[in-house]
Amino acid sequence: MLDTAGLSESYMALPITHKRIDSHMHTPLCGHAYGDPIEYVDAAVDSGISLITFTCHIPMKDDRFAQEGIRMNHDDVPTYKAIVEEACQYGKSVGVEVLLGIEAEIHPDQEAMQDMNNFLDTQSFDFVLGSLHHQLPAFRIWLKNNSFSSDEEIVAAYFHCLGEGAMSGLYHSLSHPDVIRVYGTLMRTFKPADHQAVITQFLDKVADSGICMEINTSGLIKGDFIVHPDPLIMDWAIEREIPFTIGSDSHTPHMVGQFFEPVIAELKTKGLSKLHYFKNGERITVQL
Ligand SMILES: [Zn+2]
Ligand SMILES: [Zn+2]
Repeated sequence: MLDTAGLSESYMALPITHKRIDSHMHTPLCGHAYGDPIEYVDAAVDSGISLITFTCHIPMKDDRFAQEGIRMNHDDVPTYKAIVEEACQYGKSVGVEVLLGIEAEIHPDQEAMQDMNNFLDTQSFDFVLGSLHHQLPAFRIWLKNNSFSSDEEIVAAYFHCLGEGAMSGLYHSLSHPDVIRVYGTLMRTFKPADHQAVITQFLDKVADSGICMEINTSGLIKGDFIVHPDPLIMDWAIEREIPFTIGSDSHTPHMVGQFFEPVIAELKTKGLSKLHYFKNGERITVQL
């Protein structure tokens, strides 16, 4: 469990840097990403990024979270740490700091999460992302078992579960927070304004919890080609002073820092002046 008590006070004292950061990328151990971690470091150099965090998909024992081609096994964890450490050492020679994170799952059925929670309790990572991958059988079966079938019900259930994840204290940042709009779980095009009440209730929980939300630029290359979260949700989050991390969700080296320039320019027009990353579980502020 991460200790999130008194977050805002304790973070005030932490240092502010001007680094360019990318806090979401994968390794081939998940079975659907490509390239040696060292190539991601080289790509960071090319994109002017001086700090990257690897966040491979967390191992899960329950088959409903899909294993083959989706995530590493528990046996792969030492290899994961070793290849990230190798990239970290290489990064020192080219001016890129490399951190070790993990993309963990959010799911409403706590029994299915026990194994993952034990894993997080016994491992140490700089950064833990929380993701609700609604496209996996785990969430689709849960929706069916609860008779949630209309878009309104599914969107409400999704953001409710994500809000509970925020309050759980397990994660540092919520990854691709409106990913419900891609991968075909909804029937119609997702428009945040149609779901304002459930989304703003969710954002209130995030603001209360003190954790971050992720700006994820991979939204620009899939589904409806919009950054995660949608700019309207971003506005609602900024109103609540929710802190943001940023990640490309790279599954190949050439995606590192993808679309950061236009997205950061847009964030500045929205009045956002800071982003954040995590090192040893501590939030560090980056001035835009
Ligand atoms: Zn992935
Ligand atoms: Zn994800």
